[in-house]
Amino acid sequence: MDKSSLKPKYVFGPVPSRRLGRSLGVDLVPYKTCTFDCIYCELGRTTHKTVSRQSYVPPEEIQGELELYLSVLDKKPDYITLSASGEPTLNTKIGEIIQRIKQITSTPIAVLTNSSLLSLDEARRDLLEADVILPSLDAITPALFEYINRPHPSLRIEEIISGLIQFRRQYRGQIWLEILFCRGVNDGKEEIEKLKEVIERIEPDRIQLNTLVRPPAEDFVFPLTLGQLEEIRRTLEDKAEIIPEFTAPLGEEFNSVKDREILHLIKRRPCTTEDISKALGLRIDEVVKHLDHLTKTGAIRYRMYEHRCYYENVATD
Ligand code: SF4
Repeated sequence: MDKSSLKPKYVFGPVPSRRLGRSLGVDLVPYKTCTFDCIYCELGRTTHKTVSRQSYVPPEEIQGELELYLSVLDKKPDYITLSASGEPTLNTKIGEIIQRIKQITSTPIAVLTNSSLLSLDEARRDLLEADVILPSLDAITPALFEYINRPHPSLRIEEIISGLIQFRRQYRGQIWLEILFCRGVNDGKEEIEKLKEVIERIEPDRIQLNTLVRPPAEDFVFPLTLGQLEEIRRTLEDKAEIIPEFTAPLGEEFNSVKDREILHLIKRRPCTTEDISKALGLRIDEVVKHLDHLTKTGAIRYRMYEHRCYYENVATD
């Protein structure tokens, strides 16, 4: 059996990740089920904003699917990443899922989280067995937090910060804290000084500075230049690093077959990420990575229309 004959519901990739190398993704919640609705989200606006933790996906199904997937991959992924198209800690079974994955592979497990539920004892406990946690924190000032992350109304940034500090005390693995900067929004000197103070209390192992690299949910959001990121890095000092571009060679799973299918589709009419996902039966994150690659090669471009991002073919043939 090869990978193309699998029809996974939860597992996708491996996709090239700028922070995790070849990352095999596992989606723990339905598309855009999230506690936030970030203005910069590359998956578009949140369609289901909630803080209600539920058992969204049966752990045994994920284990079975992952086992099968790993058995047909030519090359071991660098990480198995729990994340994808929403906030994974909304899944009440995330702790059990991590334990089940540990039973079938030695590949390290990473969890991408927006940190919003780390104020909950049970959510923190659920993550203790993971190898790397990549929480995000974009703003300290409450008004700025509301503006950039558009959180569920019950969420408070002070509680999220306390949750991160408590988590650091409990957790023995690596914490790589991500801050995503949007030009003119959270890149002011005063906010960065506040971030610095809070980061010192959280004590992450790494501080990763990011900015927009793909079309955001809102067309009024813009990236920082490398020079601006570098200036922030100097202010935050030692552990801070700018997230690098992904430079590893693209694997077979990132070959031109899917790229060609996408090119063929958008040649007929411009499509959104969701259109492509539905038409080709690909996971949203997988589509995003292919679109990223095709945009960088100059084969396609995007344009915003009524707050939606459409991809179109640049080739004239
Ligand atoms: S960027 Fe992450 S946390 Fe923010 S809305 Fe998108 S999926 Fe949710």
